[in-house]
Amino acid sequence: MATTSFTKKSLGLETTEPAVTPPPATTTTTFTKKPKLGSAKSKKKDIPEGLWTKCPKCSTMVFDKELDENLKVCPRCQFHFPIGARERIHSLVETCTFEELNADMTSVDVLQFTGVTSYTNKLAEYQKSTGSKDAVITGLCKIGEHRAALGVMDFSFLGGSMGSVVGEKLTRLIEKATEKNLPIIIISTSGGARMYEGMFSLMQMAKTCGALAYHAEAKLPYISVLTHPTTAGVMASYASVGDLIIAEPGAMIGFAGPRVIKDTTQAELPPGFQTAEFLLDHGLIDAIVSRKEMKQQLTDYLSFMTHSRKAAVAAAS
Ligand SMILES: [Zn+2]
Repeated sequence: MATTSFTKKSLGLETTEPAVTPPPATTTTTFTKKPKLGSAKSKKKDIPEGLWTKCPKCSTMVFDKELDENLKVCPRCQFHFPIGARERIHSLVETCTFEELNADMTSVDVLQFTGVTSYTNKLAEYQKSTGSKDAVITGLCKIGEHRAALGVMDFSFLGGSMGSVVGEKLTRLIEKATEKNLPIIIISTSGGARMYEGMFSLMQMAKTCGALAYHAEAKLPYISVLTHPTTAGVMASYASVGDLIIAEPGAMIGFAGPRVIKDTTQAELPPGFQTAEFLLDHGLIDAIVSRKEMKQQLTDYLSFMTHSRKAAVAAAS
């Protein structure tokens, strides 16, 4: 307060009145000292960028190299950081066995959608930043001793939203798996249907599930892996119809967000609502598997499911 009135006077707004109470020298000193203290503090906090990452759960500073080697899992509290689709594929499949399918398929701006920027510009921007053409990578691969079809979504591409390319690439992958008698694994992470493609996005829900129905009819296993976050149109379609549904620890899984549900139902939501752990307790998912154990667990599940299938086929013939 003292400083404000002093400034007014110094600007000549009250020239007739002498400065009766000029701010004491000590006050001014305190004000000038503070920024100095602040800058000294921020200097101490100056950590070179790209070397350390702070864990949002336990606040530990983790060396980036260590985090990469640990598949982006905090070594102290096991918090699962987001991981890119290619990195994830690399962590799951046998070396040099991944044959990517439809890598160049790109979306078309059918609706001529323009928000803050046009959909075409958005696509170009994300294609540049992620190095992928859209939010899913699909292909055939080997996991352990099993040949399998694998689809991995990438949240860093437009929030992992499901547009016509995500739907079409997954549908083609499922159809390929059915044709070649292969199990399929889809690793989901998504904010839901892509609004830039309107109804075309919503149609992908039925299309993918239709292809999965043919895959199931051929008695082939489908494992759905839910990672943080898997929500909305993706959760309401192919992600929730796996023969086996597993999730990474702490993943947020649901249809609408907790705030929307709270506002709609006007009810208090239970603690841990929509986390993988909550959904395991309530029977929506079958298991929680840590990222570091994912490859081994998928191999074991595939062994179990394909052996059962072989036995079932042998018994039927
Ligand atoms: Zn941590």
